[in-house]
Amino acid sequence: MGLDIIDSHAHYDDKKFDDDRDAVIASLFESGDISAVINVGCDVATSKRSVEFTEKYPNFYAWVGIHPEECGKIDDPDAALAGIEAMLSHPRVVGIGEIGLDFYWDDPARDIQERWFRAQMEMAKRSGKPVAIHDRDAHGKCMEVVCDYPGVRGIFHSYSGSAEMARDLVRRGWYISFSGVVTFKNAPKVREVAEAVPLERMLIETDCPYLSPEPMRGRRNDSRNLVYTSARLAEIKGMDHAEFCRAVSDNARKLLGI
Ligand SMILES: [Zn+2]
Repeated sequence: MGLDIIDSHAHYDDKKFDDDRDAVIASLFESGDISAVINVGCDVATSKRSVEFTEKYPNFYAWVGIHPEECGKIDDPDAALAGIEAMLSHPRVVGIGEIGLDFYWDDPARDIQERWFRAQMEMAKRSGKPVAIHDRDAHGKCMEVVCDYPGVRGIFHSYSGSAEMARDLVRRGWYISFSGVVTFKNAPKVREVAEAVPLERMLIETDCPYLSPEPMRGRRNDSRNLVYTSARLAEIKGMDHAEFCRAVSDNARKLLGI
């Protein structure tokens, strides 16, 4: 038996997989280490694509949602939100993502991003589904929005905030997801967060094709590289590697109902 690893956040719809998508996805499951992959949408088209993947590829699930960097490009917001909400009834759709705030580029404007974030948090409240949150350089505002929806639960994906904020999120019932960044030499803060977050609230992800862990950093990422990410996290937690993977995948199954 291999390791039991669930990739909680992947973008196999990305154009970097256009030349060899089917082959890469088939190879993910050859070693027996990867149990499931959750592909994540960033707009209506890629959300639809994520749902299609669940019908085409075994062990695939989907997040559907509008990413903060995409929300400014949408002509008919009501139709887009209704489209996302309709996808939630698909049996392989686990929740709403990725949603949130990205204040790195400030494009679209912050108030527009916040409006979309809140609209999708409302959707989560109505549907009872978990959310996957993208928070880049917007920790304070993300926390404020999350606190306005105490019934909504989910994941902060590729978490980049402080250990203190992570502890606060955990107290409020949230999960913290770690990507390949935890293996980077220049990311001691993320390792500090990994020490602070209890095992039962940890998840792992690739965010592929981005964020390849060491020693694959700089190359196109895929779910197989979670072997490196999980090994580093197991080391931080002082745990056996296989035991760590099983525990974290059980967290994903519990939160996402898969
Ligand atoms: Zn992502």
